[in-house]
Amino acid sequence: MISKNEITVLGGGESGVGAAVLAKKKGYKVFLSDNNEIQEKYRSVLTHFEIDFEENGHNLSRLLTAELVVKSPGIPDHVQVIRSLKEKSIPIISEIEFAGRFTDAKMICITGSNGKTTTTLLTYHILKNAGLNVGLAGNVGKSFAWQVAENDFDIYVLEISSFQLDGMYDFKADIAMLLNITPDHLDRYDNSFQKYVDSKFRILQNQTNSDALIFCNDDPVITEELKKRSTAAKLYPFSLNELELVEGAYIKGNQLIIKSNKTQFNMTLEQLALQGKHNIYNSMASGVAARIADIRNESVKQSLSDFHNIPHRLEYVANVHGIQFLNDSKATNVNSTWYALEYIDKPIVWIAGGIDKGNDYSSIKPLVKEKIRAIVCLGVDTKNLHEEFGDLVDNIVDTTSMDIAVVTAYHIANKGDSVLLSPSCASFDLFDNYEERGNKFKEAVNAL
Ligand code: ADP
Repeated sequence: MISKNEITVLGGGESGVGAAVLAKKKGYKVFLSDNNEIQEKYRSVLTHFEIDFEENGHNLSRLLTAELVVKSPGIPDHVQVIRSLKEKSIPIISEIEFAGRFTDAKMICITGSNGKTTTTLLTYHILKNAGLNVGLAGNVGKSFAWQVAENDFDIYVLEISSFQLDGMYDFKADIAMLLNITPDHLDRYDNSFQKYVDSKFRILQNQTNSDALIFCNDDPVITEELKKRSTAAKLYPFSLNELELVEGAYIKGNQLIIKSNKTQFNMTLEQLALQGKHNIYNSMASGVAARIADIRNESVKQSLSDFHNIPHRLEYVANVHGIQFLNDSKATNVNSTWYALEYIDKPIVWIAGGIDKGNDYSSIKPLVKEKIRAIVCLGVDTKNLHEEFGDLVDNIVDTTSMDIAVVTAYHIANKGDSVLLSPSCASFDLFDNYEERGNKFKEAVNAL
């Protein structure tokens, strides 16, 4: 445990302010530093808790006297302030690592390239409905540190990004979930996929034989990597194949089967609230965690069938004159778009584009060839989409506003088609974030 010397928190957003509040409540001297302006709602929290802070720049000489630094996940390792702290060998940890030191609650930790938020919320829904004293944190809602400061939960469901994992050392997941690993955020990992994979696998660290690892057995990156590593945790694979696993989840006919502790859970796929292959995976992972946590079969089944999905993830918006509109604005990488294209069984007018993080589109080309009637590019730079898909799709149109993209897609689509916003790209060229992009899509559809 650290002494009562100064703890520095870098970043004045949700996780940083949460960490600062927790540190203050635990009696540490705290200094929070942000290179940018801090939002008013967070500034007032810092003032309320009498936490010393600076914004719009770092006082490096003060930071370099810190005993411990809690770094917000949005700050990349290559920035000068982090390099200087590292040169001085000042320990830098993430907010989850820090907060984990102040609670004995059980931890269900979810990571993966796609599906984290959905699976985190679904798992939380099952546990909460079953009457457990459970907290929800990580990338969703209030930060983990903040909740540790203010609540006393017995169990947490935590969504954990690779950036949080990078600063985690002693933290342990009682139940870890590794949903999938496909290339994403490689700009933060020196363009090395292996470095990103290593980061995701930190979810396993410190696990013992009384802990569980739930993982996708159909993901070759995960299964190959597991062969190279040893873990004491009990393994619970899940798969869309008919595998007859001894422990874990699989499909038999139209049944989802979960086996754990020599018991079996069954429900039909049609009963699942979340549809589509990707969501069967998410339901399996959540269901396994719930069964390991000893939630009754009936309760798990009920919650898996009455969960309401969160917006912007393959969200049904409306049917306008026989054309279905789907908002998948959260699809910021190619793999999540793959699942959307795979799921839809109608001709698709696809609205795509934005800031391309070095996308490799090869995995979706067969689906594009088979299902896409037209592409409506939405973005400042659409050259890449033309180059990648010009040979596969006859009709590719450029637009730079959501209203025009939606009207264009509507005119191109025939009755019975789907118009899908699933950009495979970040949104920052035209929008503040994916939520704004999705909301503008819904507004434009509703105005048709
Ligand atoms: P994350 O929190 O990991 O970004 P979300 O649950 O917000 O994941 O979903 C992001 C996107 O990925 C959405 O387009 C969603 O439809 C898609 N998706 C959800 N689950 C999966 C999965 N298991 N595999 C691939 N794509 C998924």
